[in-house]
Amino acid sequence: MPAFETRSIHGGIVPDPVTGAILTPIFQSTTFVQDGVGKDRGYTYTRCGNPTVAALERNLGELEGSPLPALAFASGMAAISATLFALLSAGDEVVVSDVVYGGTIRLLRRVLEKFGVRAILADTSRPEALAAAVSRRTRLVLVETPANPTLKLTDVRAAAEIAHSAGARLAVDNTFLTPALQSPFELGADLVVYSTTKYIEGHNATVGGAVLTRDREEYDALRLVQKTIGFAQSPFESWLTLQGVKTLGLRIARHSENALEVARFLEGHPAVASVRYPWLESFPQHDLARRQQKAGGGIVSFEVKGGVEASVRFLEGVRLAKLAENLGAVESLVTHPATMTHASYAPEERRALGISDGLVRLSVGLESVQDLVADLDGALDRAAGRVLVAGGVR
Ligand SMILES: *Cc1c(COP(=O)(O)O)cnc(C)c1O
Repeated sequence: MPAFETRSIHGGIVPDPVTGAILTPIFQSTTFVQDGVGKDRGYTYTRCGNPTVAALERNLGELEGSPLPALAFASGMAAISATLFALLSAGDEVVVSDVVYGGTIRLLRRVLEKFGVRAILADTSRPEALAAAVSRRTRLVLVETPANPTLKLTDVRAAAEIAHSAGARLAVDNTFLTPALQSPFELGADLVVYSTTKYIEGHNATVGGAVLTRDREEYDALRLVQKTIGFAQSPFESWLTLQGVKTLGLRIARHSENALEVARFLEGHPAVASVRYPWLESFPQHDLARRQQKAGGGIVSFEVKGGVEASVRFLEGVRLAKLAENLGAVESLVTHPATMTHASYAPEERRALGISDGLVRLSVGLESVQDLVADLDGALDRAAGRVLVAGGVR
């Protein structure tokens, strides 16, 4: 199998057979004319399949080293929804990491519960807590590692063993690390889900998602849901995502380098109370990170001294980094999980999970790391109430 960088550029892509165009064209067409009754050329109607979308699906399949293509969706949430719709029936239980993307919690509590699917939240960073949460009714275990926004890790190998011993499947949300830095299938997972919105497309240009399985029956079940519910990715977004994927390896390596440097800077800053980043020696699960990941990724979480007020001043004080929901793109973004991405958790729940009201999530972009550090330094000074004037601190 060719190396990751080679697959990200060439995987599943063939020059256009008609024109030789090196990029897969954007097949912006609803329907496909048939050669005769019952004689189509593999495509009939874009909700059920489209050549540009299929190119992305083949490419993502090869990136993950799967014998089957991925299934591309209009968002990461659509990919997660499709996975749950395809695998679960009324009466089934799904065990989910207690710290996951806010939308996943909302999906389970506000949508799936009324169809008779029961979600059990567990601290999957502790294998014994996961083992206690699974039962004969567990059909699926869904983990996110590193988790958003606390960056708590789940040992995928251990989680796979526990899920399988209960007769359940293990799905890993690999959005934060992508196949460039973590290979859930090699660690024993059965399904891999992504928000391609983040690092995979990487330029803040699209919303998208994908799911992969190596099991043919499960793949067919996912396809049925995808075409029936009608939330497949669009041709144009697929094309943009394909362009993003080509530099994924390069980008996420630099995101990780920048993030480590930023994390070290924050750790040494007097206005910062605590920093979480898996590649820091101080990270509680640093050994697991080294075992399971190829690098630390681009997300750093930290707390500013002085509580919520200081955090808000920091979030409003950055100039280069932008206050916005999203992560994984070339622009550095800061987020306040308590009021933004994780507002669907109750306040006491957030506190119990380590998502304090003062927690800041920083998606470290690809700007010069010196410029970024200077931006953060200035915002931290302003947050601490220190105003820089010519020649000194007032
Ligand atoms: C963003 C995100 C999602 C949801 O993806 P969308 O593309 O926004 O629908 C799911 N999981 C994780 C870990 C995410 O960061």
